[in-house]
Amino acid sequence: MKRIAVLTSGGDAPGMNAAIRGVVDQAAHHGIEVFGVFYGYKGLVEGDFRKLTIEDCQDKIRRGGTFLYSARYPEFKEEAYQLKAVEQMKSNEIDALIVIGGDGTFNGALQLQKVGFPIIGIPGTIDNDIPGTEYTIGFDTATNVALEEIDRISDTAASHNRTFVVEVMGRHAGDIATWAGVASGADSIIIPEADFDMEDVVRRVNNGRKSGKDHSIIVLAEGVMGVNEFVRNFKLVDPEHSIRGVTLAHIQRGGSPTARDRVFATLMGAKAVDALLNGQNGIYMGIRGEQLATFDIAETLQEKSHIVRHDLYQLNLDLTDK
Ligand code: ATP
Repeated sequence: MKRIAVLTSGGDAPGMNAAIRGVVDQAAHHGIEVFGVFYGYKGLVEGDFRKLTIEDCQDKIRRGGTFLYSARYPEFKEEAYQLKAVEQMKSNEIDALIVIGGDGTFNGALQLQKVGFPIIGIPGTIDNDIPGTEYTIGFDTATNVALEEIDRISDTAASHNRTFVVEVMGRHAGDIATWAGVASGADSIIIPEADFDMEDVVRRVNNGRKSGKDHSIIVLAEGVMGVNEFVRNFKLVDPEHSIRGVTLAHIQRGGSPTARDRVFATLMGAKAVDALLNGQNGIYMGIRGEQLATFDIAETLQEKSHIVRHDLYQLNLDLTDK
C-alpha cells in the first residue's frame, strides 16, 4: 500500500480535522502518501483531491468543521457515479479510501467495497447515532456546547422564574438531549427513543418549583417535535405557566473540539491506517468501553438502531420524581 485517500461527508462534526490528522501522520509514519478528497463523494467523482502534508494538518486539530469540506451528493447512490469514483482513484494510483461521516457516508463506502475497492469508515456525526460504537466524533463537543447554552438560559430563566424548553440536535437520536439534560439537572428530558406524557412533564416541573427551584429546564430532542409545538402542548395542560422555547440549532456543530473528541478522532484516524495495512476492509473504527473497537460496516448498518442510554434517561426520571 503506497497511497490512500481520505474524505469527510454528510454533516460536519467537530473533531473531523483531528481524525484527518491522525490518518495523515500515521500514514507518514508508515511511508504512505495521503490524498485529501474535497467535498466528500462529489470530489471523489470529480477528481477534486490533492496530496496532504503534515503541515496541512498541524493547526487544524483545534478547529471545528472539516478542512476537506463536506457535501450532500445524492448522485452517489447511482452505480455509474460509484464506478467513476473508483476510476478516479485508480488513475491516481490510490489503493484504499478512508471515509469519515455518518451512516449515509458508510453506505456510500459499502458500495465502493462491493465494486472491489478497499474502504475503512470512521464515525463522524454529532448525533452519536451509528449502530455498534458508543461514540461518534463530534458528539462530545456538541453536547458540551448544548450544556453551556442551557447554563446561560438557566441564568435568565431563574431571574424571571421561567420554564425554558431547549431544543437540541440529534436527528432521530436523543443522545445529546440525554447527556446535556442530565448534566444540566434538567427537570425533564424528551427523546425519540422513549414515550412521554405531557401531564407527567408538567407535574415534574411544577413539583420542582414546589420543592424550591426558581426555574425549570426541559431538554427536547429535535427528533420528537419542534419547540413551538411542544410549548403549545404544554400550555394546553398548564395555560398560566410562564414557558418559553429556544432552538439551539447549528451552534452545536461549531467551535473548537473537546479533548475527548480530538483524542478519539486521532486514535480512530491512526488505527484506520493500521487496519488498511493489516489488509482489513469494510470495517469501521468505533469506541466501546473507552477502547478502540472495530465493526463490520455491512452487518452493523443492518442493525439500524444505535446504543441508547436508557439508564441515563431513567436516572433523570428518578431524580425529578419529587
Ligand atoms: P449525518 O449523520 O451527519 O447526516 P451522513 O453521512 O449520514 O451524516 P448523508 O447525507 O446521509 O449524511 O450521506 C452523506 C453522503 O453519502 C450522501 O450525500 C451521498 O453522497 C452518500 N450516500 C448516502 N447514502 C448512500 C447510499 N445508500 N449509497 C451510496 N451513497 C450514499
